Amino acid sequence: TVRLAPSAPNGTPLTVPALGLGTWHMGEDPARAGDEIRALHTGIDCRMTLIDTAEMYADGGAETITGQAIRGRRDEVFLVSKVLPSHASRSGTIAACEASLKRLGTDRIDLYLLHWPGRHPLADTVAAFEALRASGKILRWGVSNFDTEGMERLSAVPDGRNCAANQVLYNLATRGVEFDLLPWMTGRAMPAMAYCPLDEGRLLSHQGLGRMAEARGVSAAQLALAFLLSRENVIAIPKSANPERVRENRAAADIVLSDADRDDLDRMFPPPRSKQPLDII
Ligand code: NDP
Repeated sequence: TVRLAPSAPNGTPLTVPALGLGTWHMGEDPARAGDEIRALHTGIDCRMTLIDTAEMYADGGAETITGQAIRGRRDEVFLVSKVLPSHASRSGTIAACEASLKRLGTDRIDLYLLHWPGRHPLADTVAAFEALRASGKILRWGVSNFDTEGMERLSAVPDGRNCAANQVLYNLATRGVEFDLLPWMTGRAMPAMAYCPLDEGRLLSHQGLGRMAEARGVSAAQLALAFLLSRENVIAIPKSANPERVRENRAAADIVLSDADRDDLDRMFPPPRSKQPLDII
């Protein structure tokens, strides 16, 4: 589990699963809806109860699939969704959230993120987030694709320090955030949500990772996830529409990496030695 920063200076922290479920590309093809819902059910059954979605995915289709998957199980799940930057004005954020709630079939989103920095002033988006929180439509808010400078800018707007999380591209092949962003966030007790934890599946064909996984009797996917789960303050949200793979991903949480394992991974995927521009998908 990982602790989310309190929503206000005197608020209580919240504990969420460190391994969740992504939903990008779900809801795009009605023929795959059954598998997608089964995969999400499998994840919830094995306690991957944090589900990450967004109004952007399949134009709301992924939220609709998520809503179907959590029907009757809402209280088991920590639900994350995102507002598009183009909607993130003060009134637009509230309207977008209400539309997401409808598609999700629920009365609250547990963590609501600004999908990436956009043209609307951050102060307006934050004011809308705080209004949504006051009305109980969201429990916490955060951002996505914000680099360290963006986080500093956010901290400077009224209530900007109530940000509970930042979701960023982070996996073995993309470790730039380790240089300055993750330490900045850890210093503020703010978790990172690692998106594309399998590099959209590309890491699974990495030969060195495959060899190392084989030697350990695990899969490359599990090793890639175990790397993220071994980091303090990181939540990984792999997506799979295949229940077997969801179970495989879940087992990554039981892998304990040794110092030698970590050294091997660092040799194959060197950590950053200087500041890198934030990678965004
Ligand atoms: P991932 O790194 O999670 O990789 C997903 C791909 O890997 C899919 O093709 C999936 O296929 C495959 N896969 C998953 N598990 C396994 C396994 N055990 N063995 C083999 N293949 C596997 O990429 P995503 O882009 O989906 O990122 C994860 C989530 O992060 C997204 O779904 C979304 O919720 C979020 N995200 C957020 C972004 C942001 O800007 N904030 C940007 C991008 C993603 P299959 O489904 O067929 O199993």
